[in-house]
Amino acid sequence: MKKYAIGIDVGGTNLKGVVMDRNGRCRHLSRIPTEADKGGKKVLENILSLIGTLIEKEGTKKDILGIGIGTPGFVDAKGVISAAKNLPGWEGTNVYKPIQKRFGLPATAGNDVTVATLAESRYGAGQGVQNLVCLALGTGIGGGIVTNGQLYKGTFGMAGELGHISVETNGVPCNCGVKGCVECYASATGIVRTALELCRGLPPDRQTSFSRLAAAQPHTITSKIVYDYVKQNDPAAGAVNEMVCDKLARIIGIIVNALSPDRIILGGGVMMAGQVIIDTTAKYVPRYCFEAIWRHCELVIAQCGENAGVLGAAQLVFEDLAGKNIQKSN
Ligand SMILES: [Zn+2]
Repeated sequence: MKKYAIGIDVGGTNLKGVVMDRNGRCRHLSRIPTEADKGGKKVLENILSLIGTLIEKEGTKKDILGIGIGTPGFVDAKGVISAAKNLPGWEGTNVYKPIQKRFGLPATAGNDVTVATLAESRYGAGQGVQNLVCLALGTGIGGGIVTNGQLYKGTFGMAGELGHISVETNGVPCNCGVKGCVECYASATGIVRTALELCRGLPPDRQTSFSRLAAAQPHTITSKIVYDYVKQNDPAAGAVNEMVCDKLARIIGIIVNALSPDRIILGGGVMMAGQVIIDTTAKYVPRYCFEAIWRHCELVIAQCGENAGVLGAAQLVFEDLAGKNIQKSN
């Protein structure tokens, strides 16, 4: 039985690659620039070069089962990428054929957050439960679903776009074409938008240090700054947190009623803010779902950190290409 898998995480800035064993341990980790601005062909070339580097580090490819790719957008059964808006020219690229041709190894691929969900399920905050949902709060909001211990991919691998559930009928127009997606309020960019809007509407007697900063230097505000002020008990930043978490609670309520998962895992850069988002969101969830179902669901922070994507891409190899579900063995 081949012992190792190569995983590649395609990010907007960097490509990360790993050689991983069947227990989720990293043997080699490499990172190179994606060079997305040079187009899809260059991105593909860089991926092939990174795979080559990892095989060199390993010394041989005889123990490598295959290559897994986690990428923005969707991947069809033939390995063709679609809907990867932040990587110009990447859409329409076939990732399986060139890998098979260059290395003689089989390839598999999935959406970056979907594969990160797989990593959380096997090696992170999802261990020990069969049904879970991940929400990655980053520049946008991605999602992933595991049911009965298996990644739920849906038709054409398109399941899990939970960030594009609308929570406001006439809300902010989202780049997906829908209005009021939760991504417009609770992603890193959404939090900043929410903060600037709330601060603009504050009467003079309710101004705070945060709202004065937001008014004076709006372009410097990040979700991290918002949460730094939340932790200092700034009332305006606190109000932003309540609004953001109420919106998050709405989709969590939908998820709870629809799927009744054991656990909902919040990850992504925004969750550097930590427990305050979990606690505030948990306070609002009962407004939006059956309390009897919510009672059986835990809301927790992701554990795999920034390597979730690359570990998940490698794990996908063991689970997709071995044709069976391999659980963590220790
Ligand atoms: Zn949307």
